[in-house]
Amino acid sequence: MDMTIDEVDLAGVGVGPFNLSIAALADEVPELRTRFFERRERFAWHPGLMFEGSRMQTSFLKDLVTAVSPTNPHSFLNYLVSHGRFYSFLATEQAAIGRLEFADYLSWVASQLESLRFADEVRELRVGRRGFELIHDRGRTRAQSVVLGTGRVPNVPACAAKYLGPRCFHAIDTLSRKLDLRGSSVAVVGGGQTGAEIVLELLRGTWGEPARLSWVSRRLNFEPLDESPFANHLFTPGFMAMFHRLEAPRRASLLERHKLAGDGISLSTLRALHDRAYELDVSGSALRLELLPARELLDLRGSGGFELGLRNQLDETHERITADWVILCTGLREQLPSCVEPLLGSLELDDRQQPLVGRSFELRRRRHGGERLYIVNGGRSTHGIAESQLSLMAWRSAVILNDVIGRPRFDVGRERELIRWQADPSWVPQSEAC
Ligand SMILES: Cc1cc2nc3c(=O)[nH]c(=O)nc-3n(C[C@H](O)[C@H](O)[C@H](O)COP(=O)(O)OP(=O)(O)OC[C@H]3O[C@@H](n4cnc5c(N)ncnc54)[C@H](O)[C@@H]3O)c2cc1C
Repeated sequence: MDMTIDEVDLAGVGVGPFNLSIAALADEVPELRTRFFERRERFAWHPGLMFEGSRMQTSFLKDLVTAVSPTNPHSFLNYLVSHGRFYSFLATEQAAIGRLEFADYLSWVASQLESLRFADEVRELRVGRRGFELIHDRGRTRAQSVVLGTGRVPNVPACAAKYLGPRCFHAIDTLSRKLDLRGSSVAVVGGGQTGAEIVLELLRGTWGEPARLSWVSRRLNFEPLDESPFANHLFTPGFMAMFHRLEAPRRASLLERHKLAGDGISLSTLRALHDRAYELDVSGSALRLELLPARELLDLRGSGGFELGLRNQLDETHERITADWVILCTGLREQLPSCVEPLLGSLELDDRQQPLVGRSFELRRRRHGGERLYIVNGGRSTHGIAESQLSLMAWRSAVILNDVIGRPRFDVGRERELIRWQADPSWVPQSEAC
């Protein structure tokens, strides 16, 4: 192994869209030395879920750079022009573009940035005498600032953990599996966008037509993403700043209330699903489709096939269903990467033992010597639902870069908020309520 010691100002762990955005904006700041390490051989955006025809849930203008630096060459519009597709793209009049196209745009940007290192996993991050030291597959790197961008990990219900295997798996790597589901019974657990997309693929017979398909969701119905105009204002710098200032219990309750603005099913997917379910019903298809919303998975047992114990949240009754296959579409959760273990003792945690993330996306630490550790996609509890989405990605990258550089290199305060989220402090109420 080549153990060269490199020195940079900012090092990134992981190259998903979020750190790629930081790398793309940092490309405008040549005096800032950056290096981003990715364990994959090449850039890939959730390849296990990249179904043909799957659509983005956010505008293509919410790309890596445009929100803060529309003249940066790593924009989606520059990608379109460079690929000679500008007019054809406009002619499609797409409200939501295909995920495959956005993934191709991200790969195109990744192929142009010299600061990225692929097939180079970061194994350890520790504090040395002169800032951080990263130990990675191809050597060591010193950096005054580090940004963790390792994404979220599959969330597996406790009762399912011991059955994980070829026939019970989390959806995240579905497309890397060789599935033959012809004639079998399949249970899909989870009523978010991924659950809906997997069910749609199953109904289209992508892996052969199953005999029975049961779709279980804890939500009270198969619920749409709230894309209404005012819901979009939850994804603005102003709302995020306001959210960050709130007390922890209030933030937790808002996260629940805002769930459908971030985690609902796209209306187009719901329509396609409903149309397909109806067609199957009309045609008298042999496929038995069981749509089971408002069901909470209580337990899972398996030997040969699986038995799922469900509680109906509408009438509190219980039922069991059986399946040969269980596909868990139970979301992703935050988890610090194992390489930061040496630093865990110094992190400030909240009541739920989650790390506290500051305004500039820095991980709050009890002691440090001036070196700064940042995290992206790791602060839903402190920054709200927008933290795990692309919407504020470019703006967040600029906030982090300004903090690293130590001056406002990017203007992050341009947006005038249409909604006034905060109270006007000039009035003090005389009574509790009228
Ligand atoms: C199927 C799907 C569709 C989505 N669609 C949308 C959408 O339309 N709109 C939207 O706003 N949001 C969407 N999201 C949510 C969010 O935008 C994505 O999850 C996004 O990929 C998050 O980016 P990330 O960089 O944090 O993480 P990831 O994309 O998970 O990337 C993390 C990277 O870090 C690497 N890594 C991990 N550990 C190490 C290590 N120790 N050393 C080196 N590399 C490491 C991993 O290999 C990986 O490449 C979607 C999510 C999913 C799952």
